[in-house]
Amino acid sequence: LSVIEQVEPRIAEATRQELADQRSSLKLIASENYASPAVLLTMGSWFSDKYAEGTVGHRFYAACQNVDTVEAIAAEHARELFGAEYAYVQPHSGIDANLVAFWAILANRVELPELAEVGVKGINDLSEEQWESLRHKFGHQRALGMSLDAGGHLTHGFRPNISGKMFHQRSYGTDPTTQLIDYDQVRAAAREFKPLVLIAGYSAYPRRVNFAKMREIADEVGATFMVDMAHFAGLVAGKVFTGEEDPVPYAHIVTSTTHKSLRGPRGGLVLATKEYADSVDRGCPMVLGGPMAHVMAAKAVALAEARTTGFQTYAQQVADNAKALAEGFTRRGATLVTGGTDNHLVLLDVSGYGLTGRQAESALLDAGIVSNRNAVPSDPNGAWYTSGVRLGTPALTTRGFGADEFDRVAELAVDVLSGTTPATASNGKPGKARYVLADGLADRTKAACAEL
Ligand code: PLP
Repeated sequence: LSVIEQVEPRIAEATRQELADQRSSLKLIASENYASPAVLLTMGSWFSDKYAEGTVGHRFYAACQNVDTVEAIAAEHARELFGAEYAYVQPHSGIDANLVAFWAILANRVELPELAEVGVKGINDLSEEQWESLRHKFGHQRALGMSLDAGGHLTHGFRPNISGKMFHQRSYGTDPTTQLIDYDQVRAAAREFKPLVLIAGYSAYPRRVNFAKMREIADEVGATFMVDMAHFAGLVAGKVFTGEEDPVPYAHIVTSTTHKSLRGPRGGLVLATKEYADSVDRGCPMVLGGPMAHVMAAKAVALAEARTTGFQTYAQQVADNAKALAEGFTRRGATLVTGGTDNHLVLLDVSGYGLTGRQAESALLDAGIVSNRNAVPSDPNGAWYTSGVRLGTPALTTRGFGADEFDRVAELAVDVLSGTTPATASNGKPGKARYVLADGLADRTKAACAEL
């Protein structure tokens, strides 16, 4: 930091402050973690200065021999760790990985009799003029994914995201009583909608998915089966999700981030069966610019870490801790979506405390507990204020927390929520954002968090 200080002291100070803030609070955001020093150090290297558009051994720039080494090693670790036929480690983030996958599916699956007429093998080989005359065919493809309020992700075909422009989207929700995925409902929606792509994966669903059943449904309607395992990749890597809960043997294409439960650098990756490999390889320049070699190197290091038995112990602890957290909440009278968890996150319905998700998130933050508000199924408060708070265990498990510490986290969080009251909004109506914490509660909780 002293080097940075000489150039831009405010950045050095913000970096120092970020470390202090992360140390003095409890990080329960389900999508965050602490990457190892090896991963962090690998990112700060001279690879950051290198351009390497293209793929291993086939670059549009000179002197890419070391980037080739790095990318090949990262892909090898990803293939072997997940048992995939093919791995693409260039995506800069989860959204990029999904875009690469969507394009690969469109390129492979959209049937164009016109291709034979113009004498080309695939869509990627069309000339500009041919593409102009055929592009309208690509706006009418259908994708079926999990609804946002049931825990799905924006990149699964929803309008605020470009995927919603690429596909005509329909979503499947969860059973209104159990709040679990209802596979019969997914099958019925797939039969009626006949999607080109069936998407599984989530950001805020606290349960495991049966990928064998989902693949069966995809096969029945002739859909490509894509799984976005961004959130739970660490549990797949750590062999907590095996058999029908492991997406890789069942999906045609699996996408992921590398920075959440997988505990690597910020980034994404795509795993695919051989039939999709060529199209996925077109990710750069189709979707991505020059790959970030320093990040691919850090992905290789993180993936090597994830292949150790130590990581398997970590992943199991993440799941055990989530159970302890859920039980801690339930024992203290809190309401959890689906009644519990069997992955790395819990979704707390805070309406019983008379709070919106936004008020709960802010009150917890004041008290040193960092979480994020999240919609619950059929949320009356919508996606901005919400009625839920999502909490995950990957980061604090990395810090060494076990079941006892997570039980204490539940106790502290329940105390904060019980001691918070909504305040009137400036227009005099019941507020959805303002709140008041009981006297001294924030400081008391902060002190208790620091002891953990
Ligand atoms: N897919 C899922 C399921 C996610 O939860 C997220 C991030 O929250 C993404 C994709 C996007 O990842 P990124 O933020 O790296 O683009």
